[in-house]
Amino acid sequence: MPELPEVETTRRGVAPLVTGLTIKQAWHSDLNMRFPWPENMSHMVGLHVVDVKRRAKLLMLALSDGSHLMIHLGMSGVVRVLSHDHTEARHDHFKLFLSQDRVLVLNDPRRFGFVDWERGDWQQNKHIQHLGPEPLSSAFDGAHLHAQAQRKSQVIKSMIMDNHVVVGVGNIYASEALFKAGIHPHRQAKRISAKRLESLASAIKSVLKAAIAAGGTTLKDFKQSDGKPGYFQQQLLVYGRSSQPCLQCQTRIKKTKTGQRATFYCPRCQH
Ligand SMILES: [Zn+2]
Repeated sequence: MPELPEVETTRRGVAPLVTGLTIKQAWHSDLNMRFPWPENMSHMVGLHVVDVKRRAKLLMLALSDGSHLMIHLGMSGVVRVLSHDHTEARHDHFKLFLSQDRVLVLNDPRRFGFVDWERGDWQQNKHIQHLGPEPLSSAFDGAHLHAQAQRKSQVIKSMIMDNHVVVGVGNIYASEALFKAGIHPHRQAKRISAKRLESLASAIKSVLKAAIAAGGTTLKDFKQSDGKPGYFQQQLLVYGRSSQPCLQCQTRIKKTKTGQRATFYCPRCQH
């Protein structure tokens, strides 16, 4: 599933290929995505793409009339920029034909992604307005986590995966960051000191930055129809390493569940 680093990598790959181009046509398939297709997409014709942004896991094309075309990759979505005469692929569900013989294509076999066209203030968009801060922004730090923790009766792993607290901390990144910070995933959030939450915030930033850096090697694939851009895994310290020795202390890594999600941790290093 594309997580924040994959979406950010997609943004970096796509931005130089579409920024400044003019929309010639917007096409979508007859199949339903997670949400209905936006209406009146033909009204986009003639607008320019002025920027490609990201908020949480939404890719946003800022258009010249101030509106934003939003693309969510769902479980299996991939965005590429091809030429107008590209070969049709099964599961292509959205195409934005642009000037300079380019077309932005969303391919999504499971159709859990969606496209939205926000013509008002994008920050008030229904998919965005209730989201917590970006994890790599200065708005997200230990003080923010501490303030959130005081108001919650939640284990720390669930709290950092809550989009209202901070966006983009997926299941793998949550386990990895908690290991780096030495915090047991099932510790009550409000019982963790401000100092330890500060190191957790730093750990979250560092695992996400490492994943984005790992994705940097795939940027050229956004122009290849047969490439598999954007899906990568960094070196994982605990996730998926159940029963294997901890890389810090050799204790066997344990696997448990938090809600419905798999959680991996070292019973000795994390408390
Ligand atoms: Zn350990």
